[in-house]
Amino acid sequence: MRLLGLVLVVLLAGCSGDSGAGEAPSDVAGKAGFTKTPQQHAMPKTLLVSKQTPIEKARVPPIDFHFHGGDLKTADDYRKLVAVMDDVGVAMIANMDGNTGERLDRTLELNTQFTDRFITFARVDWEGVNEPGWSEKATAELERCFRAGAQGLKIAKNLGLTLQNADGSYIQCDDPRLDSIWELCARMRKPVMMHLSDAVARFHPIGPENERYEAGMWRDDPDGNYYGTDIPNHETIFEHRAKMLERHPETTFVMAHVASMAWDLVRVEKLLDAHPNVHVEISARLQELGRQPYSARKFILKYQDRVLFGSDGDPPRGAEDFWRPHWRFLETDDEYFDHPAQMLSPLGAPLQGRWKIYGIFLPEDVLRKVYYENALRFLPAAREAMRRHLSAVEG
Ligand SMILES: [Zn+2]
Repeated sequence: MRLLGLVLVVLLAGCSGDSGAGEAPSDVAGKAGFTKTPQQHAMPKTLLVSKQTPIEKARVPPIDFHFHGGDLKTADDYRKLVAVMDDVGVAMIANMDGNTGERLDRTLELNTQFTDRFITFARVDWEGVNEPGWSEKATAELERCFRAGAQGLKIAKNLGLTLQNADGSYIQCDDPRLDSIWELCARMRKPVMMHLSDAVARFHPIGPENERYEAGMWRDDPDGNYYGTDIPNHETIFEHRAKMLERHPETTFVMAHVASMAWDLVRVEKLLDAHPNVHVEISARLQELGRQPYSARKFILKYQDRVLFGSDGDPPRGAEDFWRPHWRFLETDDEYFDHPAQMLSPLGAPLQGRWKIYGIFLPEDVLRKVYYENALRFLPAAREAMRRHLSAVEG
């Protein structure tokens, strides 16, 4: 049996190499010595007997404040997703993929049939960022997007990690070219959903001591590991974020993925204490929160007005292995269960952490805040639809 397993690993490891990802040694800077290692297995089936709370729907209907609806192209795509939302009890989705220009217009057009369930966020068009006049142009286009119906702005992690100045240095969020964008969002009262930096393990060396490597990442390819490259370190990105926040106290920022600091909640507390205009969203960090359930629970109870639910999901995500584990984490005191399967290795290892999580059994008044009340503070256009939804499901 053991031998068979080994043969399978070797075969599958070979397969994934053939299918494209990193057959040749990578030329990523600083990764010259990278060698492939066997893929990590799925977690063993636990023998622990513990309480399993079956949850079909969230206890109160959430607004998923972080969803990627870029693949929603037709009314039928929307209808299919709405069916899953109804299954799991999600009231509304904030689609981060509204984009700008014609793409935004098309999304808003399609959305007119689904305004009770979908809210669209715009993006910044980085094209020509190093050309004179870009800032004015990008700000004017964003204003047009807001007036057309976009309810917020999504900033992705390329700001800070990949966008570059003409001299090759990296563009950070406190760049003066962006001031007018943050000011516009303050003036028009649109929240900025901001994903800066990345999972901390990506900034640490690849090797057995790195939790993400141990979980199965970078076994084929060092892509997405920043250690030893010229990409700015997470601490550098955080320093720029602090400077930007100093200059823009009137802008509402929702920092995605627990401000990319879920591995150190004391630092998240300091960030929230220093900047009353900052909030956090929990998507793609249940693996971090759920392995420190006592601290996570205390943190969310303490900052219950500033934590928002999001999943970072996209249309193919299933209900069972994706949305429902979020409910289980937030609502129950279940122990030692899988975190939402956002990324799996070819053999089924959870790439975001080879461990299980524990529920934090938030009380219902706090659940309501995290699931939708905090989001509604920033989304006035969604309040009426949410009221209708609540009266339909709660009577
Ligand atoms: Zn996102």
